Amino acid sequence: MSWLFYGKIGEIVSTYDAIIIGAGAAGLMCAAIGASRNKKILLVDHSNKLAEKIRISGGGRCNFTNIYTHHDKFLSDTNKFCVSPLSRYTPNHFTELLNKYSIGYHEKTLGQLFCNNSSEDIINLLTFLTNEHKVCRKMGVSVNTIEKTLFGFNVSTTIGNFKANSLVIATGGLAIPQIGATGFGYNVAKQFNINVITPKPALVPLALSPNQLQYLSPLSGTSFLSKTAIQKINFQENTLITHRGLSGPAILQISSYWDGGVDIIIDMLPNLDIRNEINNQRPSTQQLEKFLSQYFSQRLAKSICMMIQINKQISQLSNIEINKIHEFIHKFIVKPTGTLGFKKAEVTKGGVDCKELSSKTMMSNKIEGLFFIGEVVDVTGWLGGYNFQWAWSSSFVAAQYI
Ligand SMILES: Cc1cc2nc3c(=O)[nH]c(=O)nc-3n(C[C@H](O)[C@H](O)[C@H](O)COP(=O)(O)OP(=O)(O)OC[C@H]3O[C@@H](n4cnc5c(N)ncnc54)[C@H](O)[C@@H]3O)c2cc1C
Repeated sequence: MSWLFYGKIGEIVSTYDAIIIGAGAAGLMCAAIGASRNKKILLVDHSNKLAEKIRISGGGRCNFTNIYTHHDKFLSDTNKFCVSPLSRYTPNHFTELLNKYSIGYHEKTLGQLFCNNSSEDIINLLTFLTNEHKVCRKMGVSVNTIEKTLFGFNVSTTIGNFKANSLVIATGGLAIPQIGATGFGYNVAKQFNINVITPKPALVPLALSPNQLQYLSPLSGTSFLSKTAIQKINFQENTLITHRGLSGPAILQISSYWDGGVDIIIDMLPNLDIRNEINNQRPSTQQLEKFLSQYFSQRLAKSICMMIQINKQISQLSNIEINKIHEFIHKFIVKPTGTLGFKKAEVTKGGVDCKELSSKTMMSNKIEGLFFIGEVVDVTGWLGGYNFQWAWSSSFVAAQYI
């Protein structure tokens, strides 16, 4: 392990076993594990603050994993690429780490684990581990050029030139450019002729046409349990009506599968059959709107009646009208005009093509020593802690080989 090199005209160039670009979830984890294996590591990030996404995640409590982690909760052009990394570093491994450092956590719902206290607990832990193992961390540093040499990589940055045997790209995806997301990782891939699956916003609110919005936007802020579906894929969670369209966990989940063009079907009452409910109630003099407000908020019940243009006593409903109510409530058709884009997306789907990487090492098949980890890779988790688990698992794997 050599520490100093002489570059051009007597310039002293620090040399590392690995340079990791991006001090987010994946970069910090990889640096901590790599350094614990006695690797000399330089971790650089263009932002002044590290791990901003951990900080803002999970409403400030970081939904750091999901106990139901399984490859079927991930989207990728390369089916099952994530299986090997996820099996080598599991949610249990991460919770063992939290237990070791007495960081409290709890399951909120659907296997989602959150910090009891704050996301800062995870950031502090990762910072502590990188400090403990003497990772050289440089924040506010931009990379100008990367060059592959016979023995590794030359990385030129705004604070000087560095050399390393391995180069790890952990710069994440394009979601939330406001806090430093860039397409840097994709550009590095392209520099080395590594294919990138077109990055698109995922886990993102959907925009609706003015036509649909005229009925829905007055309901902005209303949330209801729903089943959102595109063909056979469906999610049963809450849908939230917003002034621009739809959001909430059920919509964010299905948005990752929405590629434009197709309709999304929303079942607004997934656990009941409204036809049976009406028939069980008959004969009744109750107005439909009042009847529906047992199942929905009053505002939503009123809008449903307006949209289907039926509001009469339950006893007076014809079978055709009951069918219309049933169709509307259980098969509400949404035709999104688009997503709200990377500014509002939680993650990026697409990214560095997994066919270009080894799932055993996360190293490029073409370029010896070049690794991609975390969200920059074409592996996208469902909502619920899966994306951080991918960051931990892919980092762990890469850290064994840098
Ligand atoms: C609002 C929000 C909430 C979320 N909540 C959750 C959650 O609760 N659970 C979950 O599993 N997932 C959640 N996610 C997704 C999760 O944050 C990401 O999947 C995860 O952070 C990806 O880790 P990463 O290290 O690959 O990328 P990032 O965490 O994005 O880190 C990338 C790092 O690279 C740096 N960087 C970027 N470009 C450059 C460049 N050109 N030069 C140098 N450095 C650069 C960035 O500054 C950043 O520090 C959330 C995302 C958002 C936006």
